[in-house]
Amino acid sequence: SYSTAAAIEEPINPGVTVNHTQLFINGQYVDSASGKTFPTFDPRTGEVIAHVAEGEAEDINRAVAAARKAFDEGPWPRMTAYERANVLFRFADLLEKHNDEIAALETWDNGKPYEQAAKIELPMIVRQIRYYAGWADKIHGLTVPADGQYHVQTLHEPIGVAGQIIPWNFPLLMYAWKVGPALATGNTVVLKTAEQTPLSALYATKLLHEAGLPPGVLNVVSGFGPTAGAALSSHMDVDKLAFTGSTDTGKIVLELAAKSNLKPVTLELGGKSPFIVCEDADVDKAVELAHFALFFNQGQCCCAGSRTYVHESIYEEFVEKAKARATVRSVGDPFKSGIEQGPQVNSEQFQKILRYIRSGVEGGATLETGGERFGTKGHYIQPTVFSNVKDDMLIAKDEIFGPVQTILKFKDLKEVIQRANNSRYGLAAGVFTQNIDTANTLTRALKVGTVWVNCFDVFDAAIPFGGYKMSGHGREKGVYSLSNYLQVKAVVTSLKNPAW
Ligand code: NAD
Repeated sequence: SYSTAAAIEEPINPGVTVNHTQLFINGQYVDSASGKTFPTFDPRTGEVIAHVAEGEAEDINRAVAAARKAFDEGPWPRMTAYERANVLFRFADLLEKHNDEIAALETWDNGKPYEQAAKIELPMIVRQIRYYAGWADKIHGLTVPADGQYHVQTLHEPIGVAGQIIPWNFPLLMYAWKVGPALATGNTVVLKTAEQTPLSALYATKLLHEAGLPPGVLNVVSGFGPTAGAALSSHMDVDKLAFTGSTDTGKIVLELAAKSNLKPVTLELGGKSPFIVCEDADVDKAVELAHFALFFNQGQCCCAGSRTYVHESIYEEFVEKAKARATVRSVGDPFKSGIEQGPQVNSEQFQKILRYIRSGVEGGATLETGGERFGTKGHYIQPTVFSNVKDDMLIAKDEIFGPVQTILKFKDLKEVIQRANNSRYGLAAGVFTQNIDTANTLTRALKVGTVWVNCFDVFDAAIPFGGYKMSGHGREKGVYSLSNYLQVKAVVTSLKNPAW
């Protein structure tokens, strides 16, 4: 809790060295064409961790050429699906072997608690890769009962070169969500990491090649959005684009894709997910789950339960308990055991969150706890709770992407459905009730891609994830994600002797 602010003054040694800072193109680490680098920072202190090669348009061109060659001439799309599966299975084994090292890099670069990275995220990444490895040899087409004397079948083929752009909040998990289905289905990839968190992907990509991935199949370019990201989105030789990030950037990449070669695009964008606590809820359990739904990962989750709607009959009790819970949240050096919350990823996000907190206060919401930076060093923010929040306040409409819980009051189901759906986003929702009719009504009425009932942030590898409305297009994870990376070819063959 706040009383330990002094503990962040002496950052704990991450115990890992950064060995890979170059771009990874055609199976090798290489400098950027320009020779430029950019710094990546430790969110605990704002100090530079390492200088990383900065990819730009020319590097994207080199990476796309390598991916093209690997697709058109290389063994990858031609090897048996079982061999591809085995590369991914071996990759998962190597990730498991290097679990703690990768988790340390992730914490150092991003600021997330090490225990979370090592015990939750890395195992999820391994599980996700094994899930896709399992799919590689189970991609079937159909035989089609067409009219006339024809034999008709569909072939499910890889699309070609996939461009992938990922954000900084779950760097290696986003890599797994994207790279997994693309490789399992036989595509080749150029992936651009987020400029805030380039390190874990560079490390993991080496392991993937140790596992037997041929050169050129996966190329990783570190760099910035308007240069490297835009070059990838508008590239004429990229056959498919997958993007995760903000809604504003999603619109830009969709436009770039349309104006270049009309490549299909999947988008995982922002959210402002309602978490609805009904009158019959066990208040203590609801408080704990709502706290987790918002504060997990420093509040930097696209699906964060960032509009907590609580029934009026339990509102006062809920607010008191939510405040008490936030006040004891342990904030501190993410490498320290038992820490629930580390620093925000960078000073830009840190400043943006503090601006939203000020707007909440100025807009008339009640600041129950927090509201300030935590300590004097790095990008730490106090767990913050607002009550008496109104739907038209900025803090109830915009994605804050920080540890700021906003609690709103509702009277009846019809009203809360209308208010929950009154958002440009539609990524996820939480529903907390013991009444099956209430749960069924809400799950069907909410216009969102995921509804968690009496749970939140359940991210099994097989469960599809994605948004309605301006939260995106398409689904990642699960069986649905495979079709993002497959073309369907109909083969119609005339039968010479149909009546034999
Ligand atoms: P962002 O959109 O600024 O950046 C995301 C990625 O896009 C980065 O790799 C960035 O370099 C790149 N980019 C930026 N400008 C670009 C351009 N002009 N052309 C091509 N690429 C460009 O988002 P952010 O602030 O880094 O990430 C946070 C946002 O991501 C939040 O809004 C969050 O909701 C969203 N997000 C969504 C999901 C999801 O699955 N739906 C997951 C994580 C994060």
